[in-house]
Amino acid sequence: MSRSTGLVLLADQALHDTGDHPENSRRIPTVLDRLQRSDDWKRFQLVEPRAADIEDIRRAHSAAHVDLVRSAAEAAPTWIDGDTPVSSASYDVAMKAAGAALSAVDAVVDSGETSPDSLFAMIRPPGHHATPERPMGFCLFNNAAVAARYAVERHGLQRVAVLDWDVHHGNGTQDILWSDPSALFVSLHQWPLYPGTGWLEETGAGDGEGFTVNLPMPPSSGDREHLQAMTDVVEPILAAYDPQLLIVSAGQDGHAADQLANQMITAAGFNTLAERAAAFAADRGIGLVALHEGGYNLNTLPQLDHAILAGLGDFATDLSDPYSEVRAADVGWPERLEEIKRVQRSYWPL
Ligand code: ZN
Repeated sequence: MSRSTGLVLLADQALHDTGDHPENSRRIPTVLDRLQRSDDWKRFQLVEPRAADIEDIRRAHSAAHVDLVRSAAEAAPTWIDGDTPVSSASYDVAMKAAGAALSAVDAVVDSGETSPDSLFAMIRPPGHHATPERPMGFCLFNNAAVAARYAVERHGLQRVAVLDWDVHHGNGTQDILWSDPSALFVSLHQWPLYPGTGWLEETGAGDGEGFTVNLPMPPSSGDREHLQAMTDVVEPILAAYDPQLLIVSAGQDGHAADQLANQMITAAGFNTLAERAAAFAADRGIGLVALHEGGYNLNTLPQLDHAILAGLGDFATDLSDPYSEVRAADVGWPERLEEIKRVQRSYWPL
């Protein structure tokens, strides 16, 4: 049985104008152009986003953080750090991007007959590097953490899982949710790589100890390594946690042709990651919200996002990928996997 899926579209995304930056305003339209030309477009429910308000953002960020983004936009064009440009509309667009995540949560948590099983919010700026106190790494507000907190506070959920497969570690999401057992944070990321966090022994603290799960993947890891990580670690932990909502920080910069990292994931790999996440959610009757994070090669990103939607919606799409034939050498993965399991067995039945 097919699963219903759809898109949350952020009409104003181009007003967050970052020029020729890798995280630029051409990314999302390039994806939408492919989707709109395909026969699959009619499958997608389209959800209109609302803007987040300050109260929503403040569940994840300090007042000083909000003020910093707002004042940077007032002083634009400027840079918050060496990676993170801001234009005059960036504050407003970031509020809308976070709001799109909240609209997606509302739509999938609502158990109405027309509510989709999953939604992919095609948003920018991305969010997973934004910490409680500061924007960084192309990210202004942490869309995933804002959405997780909202699901708990406004929908009364007790357990929300955030699965982050962006190639970079979601340090901001980790920091925000570090001591919070109402949100499980699971990250698959290249290590070492920017921002330098995400080693396997970072597992949370206080009431949140054990609810941060880091899978630092060796450089050159591909589909085989990522899917084995899902099977051996991620899915058993998700099942034991038993979330009431699954949020995916969907960054496609782990693709073999992405210029910002060194991983070897293919279109089929992203399709399978999405399919497995969606099947997990469907088996439990919970909603899934995917939030766009990284993915910077404009030649490949449209196919990858299409592959993810096909995985979410359980329909076929073109997964041909010249990198499918490339087989990475031994990347030290079996040893790393054992190290990850050794740490996680303190907390989870693996
Ligand atoms: Zn990334």
